[in-house]
Amino acid sequence: MFWQQEIETMQRNDIDKMQLRMLNDTITRAKKSEFYSKKLSNIKPLTDLGQLKDIPFTVKDDLRKAFPYGFLCVPIDEVVRLHSSSGTTGNPTVIYHTAEDINNWANISARSMFTAGARKSDVFQNTMGYGLFTGGLGFHYGAEKLGMMTIPIGPGNSKRQAWFMKNFGTTVVHIIPSYALRLYYSMKEDGIDPKKDLKLKIFFIGAEQHTEELRREIQDLYGLKAFNSYGLSEISGPGVAFECEKQHGMHIWEDFVIPEIIDPETLEVLPDGQEGELVLTAINRIAMPVIRYRTRDLTAIIPEPCSCGRTHRRIARIKGRSDDMMIINGVNIFPEQIERTIMNIPEASKNYIIEIAERNYMDKLSIKIEINDDAFSGKLEDLEKLKCRIEADLKAETGVSPDVSFVDRGTLPAGEGKAKRVYDLRKKGD
Ligand code: AMP
Ligand code: ZN
Repeated sequence: MFWQQEIETMQRNDIDKMQLRMLNDTITRAKKSEFYSKKLSNIKPLTDLGQLKDIPFTVKDDLRKAFPYGFLCVPIDEVVRLHSSSGTTGNPTVIYHTAEDINNWANISARSMFTAGARKSDVFQNTMGYGLFTGGLGFHYGAEKLGMMTIPIGPGNSKRQAWFMKNFGTTVVHIIPSYALRLYYSMKEDGIDPKKDLKLKIFFIGAEQHTEELRREIQDLYGLKAFNSYGLSEISGPGVAFECEKQHGMHIWEDFVIPEIIDPETLEVLPDGQEGELVLTAINRIAMPVIRYRTRDLTAIIPEPCSCGRTHRRIARIKGRSDDMMIINGVNIFPEQIERTIMNIPEASKNYIIEIAERNYMDKLSIKIEINDDAFSGKLEDLEKLKCRIEADLKAETGVSPDVSFVDRGTLPAGEGKAKRVYDLRKKGD
């Protein structure tokens, strides 16, 4: 049973007390790591949650700089798994888990799925990537804990996805919203009508920004309910915040994280209801807690209590990011990764633009580059080879297959000051 009533309906006073206790334990634990032993050396045990705002922020770059073990709070022999955030700029960010962390994460994932209506009798198909990406294994363990028959199919291969859905009576699916659309049209081409031919009831959609309209479209096409699922590797992965049956904002599990919303410019904490950047403190992680972690995700805490009865506060749909990270079919990429790759190609000039559009219901990354005449013979077959080489280098750097094309010198807008290089043509965000 994963309706954890006692925890999920706790009164605010009790939540505050619990969080203060867990936060102080976390600070003590965190100080065993190299990074936080310095960063938190002046921090005494807190007597009030309001003092959290006096603790310095942690940012993604801190994690990279502390590579590989700077955030680890336990001896390495207590670690049972590592995950790594997508995006390979410099050192990756690595997240460690003890057996207890894995168990806690599975519990929180199971609770999330139960909240959205999944039950032991369901058949769960997990189309998220297995491996370093947290979407696969994270919910896999949660689904097994909940007791669902779990199909670890992983991403892609729409025909096989549909075949499994049909033959095993899949009822619950974890899926990236853009892939949900693509899968539908692939089924349609093959004469499958999910409403008639499949038993689907619930989709968990997450890993990338999407609109309420897209959710409704997915629900209508498949004839099911799609629930917004939010998470990030630095705080384990999926299961950080999840929609309940009311489908109005995501409950952020307050026995797992403390949410704050800050103004990304002034860094001041904002009151509930105001939009800003989500900052999370993991209060239930053993191997590697992160404290006041700037997620860069823009949202607001919904001040009104939810009519479902749960008291853990809700965050609104993610509106965008306060940095330049792009999420392409669920993979995180920074523009600088693309820039660095292009800079290493002598035939390519330094003038390029990045375009992200929707094609065939998926995100498509295109790079337009001006060529250096002097570095290039002008033969068409050489041009084709160069294109393939750049595409392969970019794929190796980012994990995403881009479409590279060349344009004549002087045709792209030349940057005076900071050039606008990224053109996101997707219709995302409310
Ligand atoms: P990763 O660490 O690779 O799991 O990526 C985490 C990031 O994916 C988050 O910081 C968000 O920017 C994005 N993300 C995850 N879930 C959602 C969601 N439901 N809606 C919007 N963005 C999301
Ligand atoms: Zn609710």
